[in-house]
Amino acid sequence: MSTPGSHPRPRAAARLGGIRPTIFTEMSALAVRTGSVNLGQGFPDADGPPSVVEAAVDALRGGRNQYAPGSGVPELREAIVAHQEAHYGLAWDPASEVTVSTGATEGIAAALLGLVDPGDEVVVLEPYYDSYTAMIQMAGAVRRPVTLRAPDFRLEREALAAAVSERARVLLLNTPHNPTGRVLDREELEAVAAVAIEHDLVVVTDEVYEHLVFDDRVHVPLATLPGMAERTLTLSSAGKTFSFTGWKVGWATGPAELVQALEGAKQWMSFSSGAPLQPAVAHALSTQQDFVAALAAELQEKRNRLCAGLGELDVDVYRPEGTYFVLTDVRRYGHQDSLAFCEALPERAGVVAIPAQVFYDDLHEGRHLVRWAFCKDGDVIDAGLEKLLAADLHA
Ligand code: PMP
Ligand code: GLN
Repeated sequence: MSTPGSHPRPRAAARLGGIRPTIFTEMSALAVRTGSVNLGQGFPDADGPPSVVEAAVDALRGGRNQYAPGSGVPELREAIVAHQEAHYGLAWDPASEVTVSTGATEGIAAALLGLVDPGDEVVVLEPYYDSYTAMIQMAGAVRRPVTLRAPDFRLEREALAAAVSERARVLLLNTPHNPTGRVLDREELEAVAAVAIEHDLVVVTDEVYEHLVFDDRVHVPLATLPGMAERTLTLSSAGKTFSFTGWKVGWATGPAELVQALEGAKQWMSFSSGAPLQPAVAHALSTQQDFVAALAAELQEKRNRLCAGLGELDVDVYRPEGTYFVLTDVRRYGHQDSLAFCEALPERAGVVAIPAQVFYDDLHEGRHLVRWAFCKDGDVIDAGLEKLLAADLHA
């Protein structure tokens, strides 16, 4: 309570100033409140493999309930290292070059807090995942977005180079990319490598959708490019790969110096992450490749289904190469503003989607873009499409 005549003192710290509450909370709450079909927040309707759940139950019942080591239980660290070796030929030391985090979200936060100083610049692809910009600000750093432009959303080397100044310290990459669904190709990754090496940048690369790529595309981890393993911190997570987004088990791999910097921050955030889930994720990484391949094939089908349905609406559909998401341009309906469009969509159509404009600084590029998730049950996708087709979406 403030005394009469005095200005109330703000309670929230200035470092939160201007950061909008995460759109995913807002839009999932809207879906629940309005009983809408949720094609917004990216979580699958179906859980991952039962044997992985059983492994977690065994761990819960088998006395794995006290603090895990800060860097993760040894069997999970070993399984992550074995995964990086088997899939990408990357060899990391389980003792010093891998750490487990509370989802990739904590990995992103700890990487930024551990690697950038106030005033440093972080170069980031735009559209960006919302936690990147929040954490760049909380770290006191400055974001330098590099825009991926419709319709191809390619990363242009000149645009990347132009975003790098003397103050740049970290390049924060994301491939496969949320929300465009781009899987960066070798030429784009070579541009990243060249710029990072020229300017001596560390690259933090968020590869949580590493296995969710379509049409025989191959995800190439940045760390596999010449000269990059020594300056790249790679983040991933069990959430997307095994359809357990609520478990929040993520990890980082990279040279010891970078992993140590991340751990330096992370130890004061969570200290360590969900102990009984870690052996279960180790089991998943060691035994569930067939599940992952089937998931990618299923998502490809759902991508096709959602894109075909959206194609019947009056929108431009930007067909994704990977991830859970597809972007559309809603201007032909007379809408310039995706936030207003998405806020009105439950009432107009009984569907929730994500206004991609919140992932942009450059509103000219992003104001009219809407993101739809296809990691949902087939009938949920069909129900959403049916409602959209039946509705009048014109402004
Ligand atoms: N990065 C990207 C690009 C994402 O889409 C998400 C959403 N899951 C995350 C990170 C967060 O991952 P986690 O749930 O493991 O914290
Ligand atoms: N990654 C998910 C998405 O992009 C959401 C995760 C979250 O809600 N933080 O929809």
